[in-house]
Amino acid sequence: MDPAPANRETADVTADLDRILRFSPSVAERYEGEHGRTREADLRRSALVGLFLYNVYNVTGWFLTPDIATLAIVLRLLVFTPVALLLVWSIGRVGAARREVLMLAGMIGGLLPPAMLFWLTQAPLGAYTFSEILLAIVFGNIVLSLRFPPAVIMTAISFAVGLLVLAMKAELEDGLRGALFLHLATTCVCCLYANYQMEARRCRDYLTGLRARMLRDIAEHARKRFQDLSQTDALTGLPNRRALDLCLDAWLAEGGPVAVLMIDIDHFKRFNDTRGHLEGDVCLRRVAETLAASTFGRADRLCARYGGEEFAMVLRHVEPAEAAALADDLVRTVAALGLRHPGRGDGVRIVTVSIGIAVSGGGRSVGQAEAKAVLLEMADRALYTAKQSGRNRAVLGTALPLGLRRAG
Ligand code: GH3
Ligand code: MG
Ligand code: MG
Repeated sequence: MDPAPANRETADVTADLDRILRFSPSVAERYEGEHGRTREADLRRSALVGLFLYNVYNVTGWFLTPDIATLAIVLRLLVFTPVALLLVWSIGRVGAARREVLMLAGMIGGLLPPAMLFWLTQAPLGAYTFSEILLAIVFGNIVLSLRFPPAVIMTAISFAVGLLVLAMKAELEDGLRGALFLHLATTCVCCLYANYQMEARRCRDYLTGLRARMLRDIAEHARKRFQDLSQTDALTGLPNRRALDLCLDAWLAEGGPVAVLMIDIDHFKRFNDTRGHLEGDVCLRRVAETLAASTFGRADRLCARYGGEEFAMVLRHVEPAEAAALADDLVRTVAALGLRHPGRGDGVRIVTVSIGIAVSGGGRSVGQAEAKAVLLEMADRALYTAKQSGRNRAVLGTALPLGLRRAG
């Protein structure tokens, strides 16, 4: 299993946002992966709503700035609107960073026509159009929810542009100029503050959720690791008896035929006596590998260390003849390893195994717990028979109690 996800990404998650509310690069990438599509859809929708409202000012322009009404329509409808539609189209077709820059560019581009019209108009009510600049600031900060750094840039540029046209509009009364300046300044401060609050909440909520998810993943990883350890035999790395029990329970509960092969190394005590315990351990590992190789990549077989020098293999959806053929194969394969066993005292000089086989018929005439006990008992008895008949062989159990299939 992979190491716990307590890596660089976890470290980044524990890092807070920077002063301008940016995630660390890996978190930003993750956020974009999870929320990028929603962001695109939100931006597209808000931009289209904003563009519609923007063009509503073509109507108010007839009353407030009749002297430049046509120019206003040309600038808004024929110049900015196509450009803005192009920007909306490009959302989702560029990366996250470029997308936010394009939105910033769109906001600044949209601000210029009203600023210019305000400056140009000589109409008596023309000063009222200053509110369009203010609304653009509200829109960019709150409706479009620019990310905080572009929001700062957009607000600063809007403030500068507003200040410039106020200064350049010579015919404006000083009192009105001062009032509009204050409106501009308060709108900038207020909207940027609101943007900061919204952005900080969005980012912190995400980080909090992400940390919770990561802690849960780490806990889940640890739980699985402990579970794996508690079901693994330390010497051979095979599943242990507990894992075998769980597997047998699950497969018997499915109701199909299940076979148990009880596999025991012959004269292993004498192996230890003659070659020592350490060599005994090596031998156990070699036999374990050999047995387990027949289960690799197969979801219908499990090989476990049952205890000591005994192994057990469970097979599902298998006929007795098939189980017996596999057992014969295993007996031959272990012998073919040619592991030296000088002290057996029966003339054979290599390590061999004996196997007892039992197959359940998948019937329901005995309970599951009982079926399991009977199956193991039968396999054990068949193993005993194999030992009695000279070892280095497989024997298929025949004395079948209720609910278990009779072989042959
Ligand atoms: P049989 O052919 O009848 O099975 O005889 P046996 O000697 O294999 O059976 P017995 O039950 O008398 O002895 C099993 C031996 O397996 C005894 C024990 O020292 C050895 N054994 C059990 N677990 C381990 C282990 O983890 N490492 C080593 N080296 N030996 C082990
Ligand atoms: Mg033995
Ligand atoms: Mg034994």
